Amino acid sequence: MAVFLEEIGRYRLEDVRNAIGRALDELGVDLSGKRTAFIKPNLVIAAKPGTAVVTHPVVVEALVGVLRERGLTSISMGDGPGVGLDVEKVFRVTGYRKLSERLGVELVNLNTTERRKREWKYGEMGVPAIVEDTDLYVNVPKLKTHGYTKVTLAVKNHKGLLSEADKKRDHQLGLHDPLAQQATIRPPDLIVLDGITGVEGDGPLNGKVVKSRVFAVGTNMVEVDAVAARLMGFDPAEIEHLRLAHELGVGNMDPEVRGAAPSRQFEPANEEFGRVANIYSWRDPTACSMCIDSFSGAAHLAVRKPKYWFTLVPKLAYWGVFKKLHIIQGKAARLPGERGRVICLGQCTRDLAESEGLTHIAGCPPTPEEVAETLRKEL
Ligand code: SF4
Repeated sequence: MAVFLEEIGRYRLEDVRNAIGRALDELGVDLSGKRTAFIKPNLVIAAKPGTAVVTHPVVVEALVGVLRERGLTSISMGDGPGVGLDVEKVFRVTGYRKLSERLGVELVNLNTTERRKREWKYGEMGVPAIVEDTDLYVNVPKLKTHGYTKVTLAVKNHKGLLSEADKKRDHQLGLHDPLAQQATIRPPDLIVLDGITGVEGDGPLNGKVVKSRVFAVGTNMVEVDAVAARLMGFDPAEIEHLRLAHELGVGNMDPEVRGAAPSRQFEPANEEFGRVANIYSWRDPTACSMCIDSFSGAAHLAVRKPKYWFTLVPKLAYWGVFKKLHIIQGKAARLPGERGRVICLGQCTRDLAESEGLTHIAGCPPTPEEVAETLRKEL
């Protein structure tokens, strides 16, 4: 199969709709006889579409329009946002609750949906019944860098089908191989990549917005991801979960490309740590994204909420400028070699914190409020 590319510079419904129609014709995707569709955008946190962290609702609206035009009558969409989040808030802030009401398309919370147990390399996992039963499963990822996996595209978005417990286990299994293995289980029939804007640097949640102007459509996750990774300036063979998925026979890393889209070198995410001044948030592949994000969420709260302006903000500034503060999370978290105060986040670091006598913030994951409150008292 081939991957279709087009340059799209802004979220204009007609442009996206026409591009999807052209892609389906160009790739020879036959939707006749299909009645139901399930659309899986990337709605990982409660972020507005302008942040490029979530799939833009215009892309999903355009897709729904094309699918209806081509005879699909029962369409639903949904995601299972990050571990521990308020899902209704995620749906509201990302614009999907309104979109669902306006289009009359059911919005499914995959964190609570019915699942069926399926065997895989690491035991059993729960696959959403709605995705197994649909005639057409469409994966609609964003184009973003990632601290553990270099990029997050279709294969990584596919992981969003998992339950919260299975997502946590993926991280504890080292992430790359579980991602590759999951790519073999109910793979999508169609991938529509929203790279009109993307994220570079400290992605997927705290990076910089890029006007990347990339729109890609394909029928194989590895093919789409390999093409998109090259447009971001990365060699897909060096992206471990893609290489492993390719070795499992999921897809070709060098597919035929029809059309074109701009390429640019994306600034990669730092794979060791995120850093602001002397405050380091260390990356451990066994840590879930939401655990890592709970510290950056606490820092954002400190800036936004007046109650922290004269309590937590000066403390963070002091540690950031004159001292060193290390935040660690994940089952395999290690003590940083550098000197400074170490804060352990999440259940996974409880034993380490106890044995080393370090400050520990419980929760799985801890909320940004819990992190902010503890830092306000303890620093
Ligand atoms: S404590 Fe954090 S890293 Fe550990 S399982 Fe829970 S969310 Fe994941």
